[in-house]
Amino acid sequence: MIIGSHVNYGSESLLGCVKQTLSYNANAFMFYTGAPQNSIRKKIDEENTKKAQELLKENNIPMTNVICHAPYIINLANKAKPEAWDFAVNFLKEELHRCELLGVSYIVLHPGSCVKEERETALKNICDGLNEVVDNDTKVMILLETMAGKGTECGINISELKQILNGVIFKNKLGVCLDTCHLNDSGIDISSFDNYLDEFDREIGLDKVKCVHLNDSLNPIGSHKDRHANIGYGTIGFESLINVAYNPRLKDVPKILETPYIEDHAPYYYEIKSILEKKFNDHLKEDVLK
Ligand code: FE
Ligand code: FE
Ligand code: ZN
Repeated sequence: MIIGSHVNYGSESLLGCVKQTLSYNANAFMFYTGAPQNSIRKKIDEENTKKAQELLKENNIPMTNVICHAPYIINLANKAKPEAWDFAVNFLKEELHRCELLGVSYIVLHPGSCVKEERETALKNICDGLNEVVDNDTKVMILLETMAGKGTECGINISELKQILNGVIFKNKLGVCLDTCHLNDSGIDISSFDNYLDEFDREIGLDKVKCVHLNDSLNPIGSHKDRHANIGYGTIGFESLINVAYNPRLKDVPKILETPYIEDHAPYYYEIKSILEKKFNDHLKEDVLK
């Protein structure tokens, strides 16, 4: 099982991410190169990156288990303010460059939000943006994340993802990240996940799935909310999430937890343990706080 969680890039950058990952007994991780809500980024530290890569190697963790997440502020869907759209395109280009320097091959991207644009226009804007960013020499694959449908989000069903993927020139530079909380909130029943995978395979192809975000949801199917819950503590439930984690069709795909902290403590060590043991932890809070 390739499994890990969101980790903090913080002071030691990639090296710190690897140390956290090892402390969670995980073999994969996802990070933001800075705060997810802003675009302030520091220079990549070469020494530190080298140490991180060595530590990964010592622990037999391939770089393909390492995922970056682009900040939320990048919105390629809305061209109403051309300067803002240009800024988003340039920022995404820089993020890809940072990933390249770190040796990271995947970056997850929220496709964007329409705001006041028509949905069709918004989807086209996303394609335009991606086509500005991606060319034949791009070494990092952009993974479009399945979204919950909160507000005016794009990429909220298979047909929208397909439309975006079809509008991109260098199609082999794009993939998809399935988020179980977002799928649930967008209207997909995770208890019959294989039906969803069947449809995804027919319409897009399962080979495009390069990452899974394994999260429970605080809200019912189709609620369009996007609020994550700890594994087994939400409306999706432990059984269904275990079935996603162990689905043989996604065997080689990293499963990344983005579940909420409990009173400022990361719950990942215990959640990963419960997934690996296939045993629901009904005293997660006590474990995390002890
Ligand atoms: Fe995300
Ligand atoms: Fe996610
Ligand atoms: Zn989310």
